Amino acid sequence: MTFAATVLTLYPEMFPGPLGISLAGRALAEGKWSLNAVQMRDFATDRHRSVDDTPAGGGAGMVLRPDILAAAVDSVVDDVPILAMTPRGLPLAQARVRELAAGPGVAILCGRFEGFDERIFEGRAVEPVSIGDYVLSGGEIGAFVTLDACIRLLPGVMGAASSGMDESFENGLLEYPQYTRPQMWEGRTIPEVLRSGDHAKIAAWRTARAEDDTRLRRPDLWERYCGARARSPSGARRQTKEE
Ligand code: SAH
Repeated sequence: MTFAATVLTLYPEMFPGPLGISLAGRALAEGKWSLNAVQMRDFATDRHRSVDDTPAGGGAGMVLRPDILAAAVDSVVDDVPILAMTPRGLPLAQARVRELAAGPGVAILCGRFEGFDERIFEGRAVEPVSIGDYVLSGGEIGAFVTLDACIRLLPGVMGAASSGMDESFENGLLEYPQYTRPQMWEGRTIPEVLRSGDHAKIAAWRTARAEDDTRLRRPDLWERYCGARARSPSGARRQTKEE
């Protein structure tokens, strides 16, 4: 099944861009996903092809018109979740990425200027999505981020190796730190346990490091993880093992 990505943007020439190379590019060439980058301006109705207008209530910048956005969505989007890139959205997280990647595809509205007329979110079941707490100049890079995260999870795109539950966020934790050769670099060595060949010990060390690093670097994730572990049967199992 091909994962159908539709991007609605004022800059379709930006696509596939970084998604045309390496893993995502190969998957695109192999038909594991498809890309339709749509010029929103094509749905404007006036002779200047304008897609935006001044903010109601005053203020700087321009706002994307809901009627033009809706016309674009209605003519190119078919039965896939519709996301709109906006710093006002729910931050994109791996769990949502997994859901999206398991589905038929996704449509992504890329904002520019001051963003979208709010009514589009109600009028067309559009899900506001943010890629982080900072402001970009446009939604296209958010679309790259979202699509890249989905594409690597599509069947056959990545070796089984890195799709495992060890990866950051998959189990609610950051991944444990990784090391490779050389064994000694600028006086620093690889942790002894990783060279022990003792798989149980290595697994325990990795779990401990994943937990420590998450607690120190991402107290927000850690709190949620502890809450989930306290509630879930697998958490109870883990605790038994530790005793
Ligand atoms: N006035 C808006 C920001 C507009 S930035 C506000 O303060 O909320 C212009 C466009 O860039 C947005 O419409 C959105 O599509 C994109 N963008 C900016 N920051 C983003 C973020 N953190 N996540 C996703 N998209 C973002």
